[in-house]
Amino acid sequence: MTRYLAALLASLALCATLPQSARAELDVPALKAKIETSLESDYPKLDALYKDIHAHPEIAFQEEKTAAKLAAEMRALGFEVTEHVGKTGVVAIYNNGDGPTIMVRTELDALPMEEKTGLPYASHDKAIWHGRETFVDHSCGHDIHMASWVGTAKTLVGLKDEWHGTLMFIAQPAEEEVAGAKAMLADGLFTRFPKPDVGFALHDGPGAYGTIAYRVGVGSSNADGLFIKFHGRGGHGAMPQATIDPVMMAARFVVDVQSVISREKDPTEFGVISVGAIHSGTAGNIIPDEAILVGTIRTFKPEVRAKMLAGIERTAKAVAAMADAPAPDIRIEEGAKAVINDPAVVGTAEKVLKAAFGDKMRATPPGTPSEDYSEFVNAGVPSMFFNIGVYEPERVAAARNGTGPQLPGNHSPLFAPVPKPTIETGVEAMTLAVLSAFDQRAQGH
Ligand SMILES: [Zn+2]
Ligand SMILES: [Zn+2]
Repeated sequence: MTRYLAALLASLALCATLPQSARAELDVPALKAKIETSLESDYPKLDALYKDIHAHPEIAFQEEKTAAKLAAEMRALGFEVTEHVGKTGVVAIYNNGDGPTIMVRTELDALPMEEKTGLPYASHDKAIWHGRETFVDHSCGHDIHMASWVGTAKTLVGLKDEWHGTLMFIAQPAEEEVAGAKAMLADGLFTRFPKPDVGFALHDGPGAYGTIAYRVGVGSSNADGLFIKFHGRGGHGAMPQATIDPVMMAARFVVDVQSVISREKDPTEFGVISVGAIHSGTAGNIIPDEAILVGTIRTFKPEVRAKMLAGIERTAKAVAAMADAPAPDIRIEEGAKAVINDPAVVGTAEKVLKAAFGDKMRATPPGTPSEDYSEFVNAGVPSMFFNIGVYEPERVAAARNGTGPQLPGNHSPLFAPVPKPTIETGVEAMTLAVLSAFDQRAQGH
C-alpha cells in the first residue's frame, strides 16, 4: 500500500514537473534575433555555395559533385556524414544529448533543360541523360533548398544550448524522377541510421520572398502514369469496314474518360486525368493497327485514386469492346504519393512560425504537383512540408493584379529566385520549425 502510494505520489510529482501547458514556450523573438545574427555572418558563404551549385547543376542520380560539396560542409560543422546512401544520397548526423531525432531533407537534383535567365551564375553545364546530351538547370530551385539546408544545420549547431537530441540531415537524389527517396529507404535510411521522430522539408516557388505557405493534411498530389495501347486492325482509309480503327478508340477514350471525373468522382474531391500524348498512324489514308496513349492521373485521397483507376480501366476496356477490338493493354505506373502533413507537427511549428513571421505565414490549399517526400511520411515519419517564395513582393503583387508580367515558376527556363532573402527565410523558418519539434518532444507531448 505504501509502495503503491509512493509510486502514485512519484508519478504525480513527475506530472507536476512536466505540465504541458505551464512549461515556458520558446522565446521566439529572442531566437529569431539569434538566428538573424548568425545568418548575418554565415550568409556570404551560403551565397557562394548556392551560386556554385546553381552554376554546376547535376541531373538525377548523377549528383556526385553536389553531394560531395554538401558532405564537406556538414563534416566541417561536426556532423557524422555517410555518402552514397541510395546511389548519391547523403546522411549527416549530429548528436547533442538525449532527445528526439529530427530529420531535415533537401533534394540534390536539377532538370534536363537549358537555363535562359542570363544570370551571371547561370548554368551552361551539360550532361548525358538517357543516352543523349542535354543542358542541366536548377530550375526547380533545389539549389535554394541545399543552401537553406546547410544554413539551417550551421544555425542549429550554433544554437545547440537551446535543444537536445539528434539532427538527421539528409540530401536526397533524383526527386524529379520520383526515385531518390525510395532509393535511400531501400539502402537502409531508417535501419542503418536512426528513424526520425519528426521530419521537415521545404520547397520554393514563385511567391513573394519572406512568405511561408503551409497546410495540415494533404500537401501535394498522388501521381500515377497512364499507358494504354489500343489494338485495332489496319487497312485502307477508304474501306473502314474492313478495319478496326484504333484512332477512333483513342479519341473516344480521351473524351469518355472525363466522365469518370465529372460523373463518378465526388465533385468536391480533387482528381484529374490528362492525356498528354497520343501516338498512332503515319498517313491520312492508312488506318493504323494500334494507338498508344500516355497520360497522368492526379489525386489527393487514396479512395478517390482507387475510384478513378477503376473507372479509367473500365472506360478503356469498354471503348475497345464497342469497336469489337481485342482488349487494350493498360498499365498504371505508380508515381509519387500525396504528402500528408502531420497535424501535431504542423500545429507546433505553426505557433512558432506565426510568432516569427506574422501574416507572412499562411495556410494555403494543397498543391496539385507531386513530391516523393511522401515516401518518408509513408515510412512512418510525421512531417511538415512547407513552401517559401522567391521573388520581390512588389513583382508578385503586380503579377497577381495584372499590372505586371507573370513570373516564371518552377521548371521554367527563366526561374530565377532572389537568393539572399529566399535562403535567409528558408534557414530561419526551418531552424524555428526544428526547434519547435525539439521543444514539443521535450514537453512530452
Ligand atoms: Zn521539380
Ligand atoms: Zn522540386
